[in-house]
Amino acid sequence: MNTFTYCKSLHPTNAIDSYNAAISERPSNGTISSGSRKKRSVGDHTKFWTPGRTLKILVFQYDEHTFEIVKKGALKWLPYISLKFEFLEMDEQDIYSSEEFLGDIRVNFQPSFASGGGSSIGTDALTGCPHDASMQLGTNFSSPHYEGMVIHEFGHALGLNHEHQHPDANIPWDREKTYLYYQNVMGFTKQEVDFNVLPLERVPGRTYTPYDRQSVMHYNVRNELTIGDWQQTASMQISEGDIAMMKKAYP
Ligand SMILES: [Zn+2]
Repeated sequence: MNTFTYCKSLHPTNAIDSYNAAISERPSNGTISSGSRKKRSVGDHTKFWTPGRTLKILVFQYDEHTFEIVKKGALKWLPYISLKFEFLEMDEQDIYSSEEFLGDIRVNFQPSFASGGGSSIGTDALTGCPHDASMQLGTNFSSPHYEGMVIHEFGHALGLNHEHQHPDANIPWDREKTYLYYQNVMGFTKQEVDFNVLPLERVPGRTYTPYDRQSVMHYNVRNELTIGDWQQTASMQISEGDIAMMKKAYP
């Protein structure tokens, strides 16, 4: 059975900061695609990084092992995007004495996350406090699902949302059971279930590729949480659909 089932994407604390960070990084994050007449509102923007740029990835609690894990997961995406990665090892003293975002993506380790994790979506990493991690990874390094989880979190860090929340996913969730399960087993609040699990509305101008059940951004969906016979095992690898999405986001 697949036990990697959850990851909380970290909610931006401030919608205006999220919008401003996205636009100053890449103005097209705020552009409505041609043909749409609907006015875009705050929160509708995409959060992709500027193509061609080098993303600084800072690893807190650095040791050779954690560094290799982060590097290995992140590098899986590299062939499909027009970004470069620079991995930084830095003294915590230096991190806390700086007022700047020393890492665009800042990775920390949290034993309570076990073989799960959490990450900000794309440029949301540049909001809030520069000393805070933008990605948290559990410390059950020996889990067979660990690497898949790291790849999933880096998908978020590169601006991807959850695939099971795709507006065309049509997963027949039993909402009542779903809220209860995530609350009792994962400790999610109702709002966190809405934000991480249940479908999101289609937003005009946002980048979409067809719904892909094999996406590494798809949760494990348990049969008992759906109405009728519907389940999906979470993939631990980047899918063809994920590649298509990244090529669109980072041409
Ligand atoms: Zn996730």
